[in-house]
Amino acid sequence: MDDKARQILSSVFGYSDYRYHQQAVIHQLIQGHDAVVLMPTGGGKSLCYQIPAMARNGVGIVISPLIALMQDQVVALQQLGVRAAFLNSTLDTEMAYAVEQQLRHGDLDLLYVAPERLMTDRFLNLLEQAPIALFAIDEAHCVSQWGHDFRPEYIRLSVLHERFPDIPRIALTATADEATRKEIIQRLALENAELFVSGFDRPNICYSISQTQGNAREELLRFIRNEHENDAGIVYCLSRKKVEQTAEWLSSKNLKALPYHAGLSAQVRQLHQQRFLKEDGIIIVATIAFGMGIDKPDVRFVAHLNLPKSIEAYYQETGRAGRDGLPANAWMMYGLQDVIMLKQMMETSDADAAHKRVEHHKLQSMLGFSELTTCRRQALLKYFDDYLEQPCGNCDTCLTPVETWDATVVAQKALSCVYKTGQRFGVTYLIDILLGKDNDRIRQFAHDTLSVYGIGKELDARQWRSIYRQLIARNLLSVDIEGHGNLRLTEQCRPVLRGELTLHLRKETRQEKSQQRGRKSIRNIKQADSTLWEALRHCRKTLAEERGVPPFVIFHDATLMEMVDRQPRTQEQFSKITGVGEKKLGAYADAFIKVIEQHINSNTDTSSSTDTMEETLRLLRSGMKADEIANHRNLKPATIYNHLAKSIEQGEIELHQAVDLTDSEIKTIQNAFLNFSDEDKKLKPVYEALEGEFDYGLLQCVKASVNELI
Ligand code: ADP
Ligand code: ZN
Repeated sequence: MDDKARQILSSVFGYSDYRYHQQAVIHQLIQGHDAVVLMPTGGGKSLCYQIPAMARNGVGIVISPLIALMQDQVVALQQLGVRAAFLNSTLDTEMAYAVEQQLRHGDLDLLYVAPERLMTDRFLNLLEQAPIALFAIDEAHCVSQWGHDFRPEYIRLSVLHERFPDIPRIALTATADEATRKEIIQRLALENAELFVSGFDRPNICYSISQTQGNAREELLRFIRNEHENDAGIVYCLSRKKVEQTAEWLSSKNLKALPYHAGLSAQVRQLHQQRFLKEDGIIIVATIAFGMGIDKPDVRFVAHLNLPKSIEAYYQETGRAGRDGLPANAWMMYGLQDVIMLKQMMETSDADAAHKRVEHHKLQSMLGFSELTTCRRQALLKYFDDYLEQPCGNCDTCLTPVETWDATVVAQKALSCVYKTGQRFGVTYLIDILLGKDNDRIRQFAHDTLSVYGIGKELDARQWRSIYRQLIARNLLSVDIEGHGNLRLTEQCRPVLRGELTLHLRKETRQEKSQQRGRKSIRNIKQADSTLWEALRHCRKTLAEERGVPPFVIFHDATLMEMVDRQPRTQEQFSKITGVGEKKLGAYADAFIKVIEQHINSNTDTSSSTDTMEETLRLLRSGMKADEIANHRNLKPATIYNHLAKSIEQGEIELHQAVDLTDSEIKTIQNAFLNFSDEDKKLKPVYEALEGEFDYGLLQCVKASVNELI
């Protein structure tokens, strides 16, 4: 059976090796046991149940909350020649009936169902009549009431265990934390399942977070222009309004940006999602409502224009970039306003105290993460109890180390200013006091008489905002619940005020500086290769349009990149490319091989001139004279002299190697060039001046050597 699984891996999916725990998980299921699988996004969770479903007798039932995704997955499987179908509310009765018939007749390898459909008595009865290979519960963290993707129907999935005790079950998720893991096991009755936890690192994602100086949008544009021209990406904003504005603004800058949020009609959302999947280089600007159903492998960047509420959310949202394993960017820019707003939202939410505490803790962790001055990946993995020994070298703090400074004294000034003014004011006012501004409000409160008035003139307003942001982020200050943005001291600020704790804060760098990161880019293909890359992409696009599927369903970028590298020209060579299984080999190899051949042929036209010159030189070095070479190669003497002249010019050979002339003859001709030739060094006047004594070919060679002299 394990052999059979491996056979499926290579012949159906076109992969040569398993990844992470795939092999062990597949083995476990084939043996008829249960499994809980935690694997990062893009890690390859699907294969964990797809392969055993095919290897085992019967159909694999896949439960997924993501209706939008089902169809895409089924189409992709069908492209591989797998007998797959889905059942959800988007099918009409007739179509649903047809799928049920297939199920009854054992004509399916995989069936995707929405949980609410699965739970109907009718469907459960139907399942009892069909041979079942396994149950796969995808996005298993949806059982967690603490998580943001909670689905009540998921809780009832433990029924499967009661009604089908002998059928192996597998639960899968990319959500990492311990609490969720426990909930999955308990709620789905998977106590006997083996747990497979893969590391959570996404090494191909480059993380970077910077602090806005009020120009986040411009920075985003610059980031896209510099690093992601024509790439697909997602931009996350907190509010619908900001989504609309940002999408509009990016469009006005000639980018293909589309809005996506819950306030848009279902049709518009569907349309934008489809364009994102099928067209090249679409940028979706979205609230977090977008993404869960998106399985697009070649999203090259995820940008946040606001802070996510937790590290889990950040990890999940950024995780939508680079599922194909190629380099991708997670870029975020946020500011003081974000911090204040999120804190307020949290304070004013009507969640119960326990929830609030958890949320507050999560936000605090996110803020701490954003302000880090050490490797982001190390911190991110540590948060999920994972471990990375060395700084990663692929995050902003690794690429451009952050400078810190001892900010204890300024922090004390900032904190005392809050205290002395009665903890009733917001940042802008506090900074005015520190800077000793003269205005009515300050005079009205007689704050110009305070000891803190004007004690902060060593910094400017921008720098003070940064200080306040960092103090709030470190929870030394809290934001009021009334929603005016007033700051209050927290318990934690005492040691700083008393001078018992030195505080190191990040020095704000100018944005230009942080942009100079040495990025690995997918576009780093050589110039010559990029023509082939574009040609292959074009071929893929045509095939995709003919079949009405997204381009990545034909082949992933990674597969095209491998074609660029290896330039396969036979079916045999083509079948060795990762991602090429038997079905796709049969369906697409010819088309792509043709493109590769055309590319190679058009290139040899230029390279043939080097080849033919090489041949002339080879014969020359073997002792032949120019005329003999011409004879031997059946070419005109002029062509051979052309080769020789070029070689002389390029310093490959000396003049006397190329021509049979005495030194004095050479001198004569050289002089003729210097005396008789015009600016362009035409041959004719020299030929005539020397009364036709020397052939044009000889003159050409001497001229080449004169060029060298000048
Ligand atoms: P996940 O569901 O964990 O996010 P997927 O199952 O969608 O990830 O897999 C991510 C990508 O990796 C897919 O394109 C998949 O085909 C590819 N993949 C999975 N397993 C392997 C493997 N063993 N070798 C090469 N590519 C793989
Ligand atoms: Zn790092």
